[in-house]
Amino acid sequence: MKVVIIGGGIGGLTTAIALSQRLPEGSQIDIYERVPDLTPIGAAISVWGNGVKVLKALGLGAQIEGYAGDMQSMAYTSSTGVPLCDFPLSPLYERVSQRACPIARTNLQKLLLDGALGARGVKLYLNKRAMNMAQNGDKVSVTFEDGEVVEGADLVVVADGTHSKLRDVVAGRAVARNYVGYVNFNGAVPITPALGDPRKWTQFVGDGKRVSMMPMGDGKFYFFFDVVLPPKTASHPDRYREELATHFAGWPQPVQELIAALNPATVARVDINDIEELETFVSGRAVLLGDSAHGTAPDLGQGGCQAMEDAWVLARCLGDHADNVAAALKQYDTERVARTVHLVSRARKRAEMIHGKDMDATRAWYAELAVETGENIMDGMAKTILGAPAE
Ligand code: FAD
Repeated sequence: MKVVIIGGGIGGLTTAIALSQRLPEGSQIDIYERVPDLTPIGAAISVWGNGVKVLKALGLGAQIEGYAGDMQSMAYTSSTGVPLCDFPLSPLYERVSQRACPIARTNLQKLLLDGALGARGVKLYLNKRAMNMAQNGDKVSVTFEDGEVVEGADLVVVADGTHSKLRDVVAGRAVARNYVGYVNFNGAVPITPALGDPRKWTQFVGDGKRVSMMPMGDGKFYFFFDVVLPPKTASHPDRYREELATHFAGWPQPVQELIAALNPATVARVDINDIEELETFVSGRAVLLGDSAHGTAPDLGQGGCQAMEDAWVLARCLGDHADNVAAALKQYDTERVARTVHLVSRARKRAEMIHGKDMDATRAWYAELAVETGENIMDGMAKTILGAPAE
């Protein structure tokens, strides 16, 4: 079997590893990635229990646990410095039988890349931007920007991210990307006592804005600032510190320390978008996976974890129906569309609540946080994690 994977991000690399373990010997798994050198965008990512379990099943458990930050508790504080809640995460970890693994994106990419390059039958081609694809019977061909046409694929996995070039081809129509309403500034800083407890995920909330610091390993906090702004508001790294100082003037001291400590040149500033929910991820012998299928607001921290779940399920379905790709893709679609589309709409609703789309609802959430024991928050997280597909 010849599989072409478009995109060497979290979804594409995880898929290559998973397929290599499930497809018959002699299968060819070729990843085509547009950049000449794989460097991740963004500082870190929180891989929750469902994602970690996929990586463990693929034999990458020791690596992810080794790199990840040690996050043992979680707290919310108001923008005026009033502690709202603070609780250990151990009940969540026990309930889902897995701790969370917040990890530098460079480290996650390294472990996935090493895993993919060491996997049977996998090859990676860099500097290859896919532009289009065409299906002819049971075979698919992909055209690249440099003019090359790769022919004869039995399956094309479209894992080219939220800005996917090929999504519309698979969907057979123009799929909308929608601004969720806020901008996220994220990066990494060395942990210092002035910033906070090195094992706690701390968030500050007020006026529909949010600041977060999460231990990500390597002695650093992964931080982000969420600010509600009109879509496509122009900015430049030279102005980030000043902008954040304005947006978060008067917020508690650790927030001010963070603004002073960050390096604007390494901060990623992202307009947060999600994509319109799709009814199917499959067209013939082409399948969408990860953000190309279900790009989501990061407010549940699940986009990357869902890409890992997709990869795991696709490989299982193909392994179970090795001689019937259509049946395998039908099974994948049945399992993945419902789960991921639901998470996209939940994440959007959560983004709206956190970021003051209706300030009364946001204030009600702040009031809930003030009486939160951790039980409700962890119950929501556990349900998401435990909704993961069976192995
Ligand atoms: P990507 O990681 O975007 O990879 C796509 C790859 O395809 C890239 O390497 C790209 O260069 C390549 N490519 C693109 N176009 C082409 C082309 N035409 N031809 C060839 N190659 C191409 N998720 C979590 O699970 N936990 C979190 O805590 C979390 N936090 C987040 C915070 C922010 C601010 C954001 C924006 C997202 C967050 N996510 C999180 C979501 C997560 O980053 C994505 O869901 C994940 O990266 C999706 O993986 P992917 O492989 O589908 O896409």
